Amino acid sequence: MNLYNIKHPEEQVNFAQAVRQGLGKDQGLFFPEVLPKLNNIDELLALPLVERSQKILSAIIGEEIPEATLNSMVKNAFTFPAPLAQVSDSIYALELFHGPTLAFKDFGGRFMAQALSAVRGDGKITILTATSGDTGAAVAHAFYGLENINVVILYPKGKISPLQEKLFCTLGGNIRTVAINGDFDACQALVKQAFDDAELRQAIGLNSANSINISRLLAQICYYFEAFAQLPKEKRSEVVVSVPSGNFGNLTAGLIAKTLGLPIKRFIASTNANDTVPRYLKSGEWSPNATVATLSNAMDVSRPNNWPRVEELFKRNGWALSELGSDALSDAETEATLKAMYAENYLCEPHGAIAYQVLKDQLQAGETGIFLCTAHPAKFKESVERILALDLPLPEALDKHNKLPLLSDEMDNDFAQLRAYLLK
Ligand SMILES: *Cc1c(COP(=O)(O)O)cnc(C)c1O
Repeated sequence: MNLYNIKHPEEQVNFAQAVRQGLGKDQGLFFPEVLPKLNNIDELLALPLVERSQKILSAIIGEEIPEATLNSMVKNAFTFPAPLAQVSDSIYALELFHGPTLAFKDFGGRFMAQALSAVRGDGKITILTATSGDTGAAVAHAFYGLENINVVILYPKGKISPLQEKLFCTLGGNIRTVAINGDFDACQALVKQAFDDAELRQAIGLNSANSINISRLLAQICYYFEAFAQLPKEKRSEVVVSVPSGNFGNLTAGLIAKTLGLPIKRFIASTNANDTVPRYLKSGEWSPNATVATLSNAMDVSRPNNWPRVEELFKRNGWALSELGSDALSDAETEATLKAMYAENYLCEPHGAIAYQVLKDQLQAGETGIFLCTAHPAKFKESVERILALDLPLPEALDKHNKLPLLSDEMDNDFAQLRAYLLK
């Protein structure tokens, strides 16, 4: 598989390099040079998730990764289902939250961990990352138990919810978690210092397992096919997909699925008040505002870092950006939507609710709508319980960790200490 840097197309890498490196020169994103047209879509849709995903990813990645290796990567990553639930006559929810950390990032994170493990070569790898909560959990669970990969996660002591802390600080093994006496920015600054330290980087094989890693996107393509596979055949011809968007990785993956030949009619990008993209699509002007905090905080992003990939796909396919639907919802509208959905017997959380409402507003007669549910309602327990006035029991995956002791180390906001800790 050959990829180029969108900012500097002369910089070309293979899959292994793109996975190891994450970003290209000048923070440019890597993009596949060729996306194959799959001409056996119906055959693929008849297969189970894992087998189908092996075939799709093999068609994209090609011979660089031996078939047996790729097959085990997919099998180890996709260990949970992505059920499609019917919400109304013409609207379905694709539930992507049945993985170990109850969010769709388990798909991309777990496949990235497998990919990095497969292409890392002989050297040791240390994944170092800072988290304000959720990403840390997905990274920790994705890499847990992988040989020769150590993971160190920094988080601000006392500033993440106790439940979030339990979810990723109780694993042990190759996962070390460090509670820093400081805020999230301090954690991020420590990580940056570590990456700027060439000697340290070399000594422990530092890698960021970044959210823009191409392997994440490849994994996410697969669940768009899974959604179609579960749709009744007579509903597969006019499908509209609404994606709750923050950094726009999820939407990018969907657009790649369409490029490969999955017959999705059109997409809708749904956001919260951080509405840079909906405003851009209406006015043609890219003018990010300061990021604001919302109920759907995983989408509190005003400069979505995958947007260049979205534009690249539209350009290469000769699609017009005007075909991309979009809208933004306020927190008040999100709350009202959650209530309305609950009244229709579907328990959702803020991110999925935004995708549902914009879909409902823009779906036309004869179309079938699918919205992506990116997190389990219990992940946003406090807001969901308050808005819907109910008690939400913890799902077993969370409850299990909640009962285990914390294994975190504690450290001052001091790079010298962190350096010694990493070299130990
Ligand atoms: C990360 C995240 C999103 C946004 O996904 P992008 O790929 O960044 O657009 C939406 N919902 C939840 C729950 C998330 O964690």
